[in-house]
This record gives sequence, structure tokens and C-alpha cells, in this order.
Amino acid sequence: MRRAVYPGSFDPVTNGHLDIITRGAALVDELVVAVVSNPAKKPLFTLDERKEILTKTVCGLPNVRVDAFSGLLVDFVRQRQATIILKGLRAVSDFEFEFQMALLNRNLAPEVDTIFLMTADQHAFLSSSSIKEIASLGGTVARMVPSYVELKLQEKFGPRAEPVGQKVERES
Ligand code: ADP
Repeated sequence: MRRAVYPGSFDPVTNGHLDIITRGAALVDELVVAVVSNPAKKPLFTLDERKEILTKTVCGLPNVRVDAFSGLLVDFVRQRQATIILKGLRAVSDFEFEFQMALLNRNLAPEVDTIFLMTADQHAFLSSSSIKEIASLGGTVARMVPSYVELKLQEKFGPRAEPVGQKVERES
């Protein structure tokens, strides 16, 4: 059984994450999406909310499950009897940090390898922090996140504001 762990904050999950999850799941028998519990980072969504949102988002992918962890990633990977850490790479700016993390983790757990998937070009600009910023300012994040995430962001920030100076006709 080839099992991989895809760790992240997922605060909230974006279409960029979902693309990595879908492509990653096709490469392994089981993919564990592992939500980092790091209260010091003051996430917008609680750990339970992030898990719930992810679980709804990946429900169509039978070999993907959602879990949470705190502490060392390699300890969690070993506990789950996984041998692969899955990561997504956007720009060169991601590379330096991820390269260091991969080397550190290999040092801590030589039996675990990190596999990187390149982002799809249409998701290269997506990050959870920019999604939160756009939503908090009343912008639309449709096509950047799953529709359930859009709904959850509206619950946090209120419905999307009308564009300033434009009257938008709505169909009834
Ligand atoms: P973010 O960096 O958006 O706050 P996370 O910490 O949740 O997101 O990231 C988890 C993993 O997903 C990391 O490996 C990160 O590089 C990857 N990732 C995040 N956004 C994208 C994207 N748009 N395309 C590909 N990979 C991504």
C-alpha cells in the first residue's frame, strides 16, 4: 500500500490545493490530507472547520481522507505508515523553503521521500492568504476556491459587496 501525506494549513482549501490533491491521489493508493494544527498562526478557520471544509471538498475522491496533526510532520507520516510527503510548488519563491524542508525531513526520516507536483498554470497565483484578503475586501473568489469555501467565506465576512459605481441588474 503506497500512502502519501499532503500537509498544509488549508486556511481555506483553494482550487490550487484541490488540483494537487486530485493529481496526487492518482499516483498513490491512499492520500492523507493533513491539516496542521498551529494556533499560533491565528487561522481564520478553526481546525475543525478546515477539516470539515476539506472533507466536503474531497468527498468525490475515494482514496483521499482528511486528518489533522500537530508536532513533527515526519512523526505523523510514520504513525500513518506513509512513505511519501506530497507538496505543491507554485513559484521559484516556494522552492527554497520547500527544498530546505525536504532535506530536513529526509534527515529526520530517511525512509520518507518528498514528492513535488508543479501547480497548474491557472492556479499559480493562488494562495489561501490572498483568497482571505480578497474575500475580506468584498471581492469575488469564485473560480479560485470550491463553491462550499466561497459560502464559508461569506459566512465569515458577509456577502460580496456590489462593485462600487456599478448598478448590477439581477435576474429574479
Ligand atoms: P498556502 O501556502 O496557500 O497558505 P498551505 O500552507 O495550506 O497553503 O499549503 C499546503 C501545500 O499546498 C504546500 O505544499 C503549498 O506549496 C501547496 N500549495 C498551496 N497553494 C498552491 C497552488 N495554488 N498550487 C499548487 N500548490 C499549492
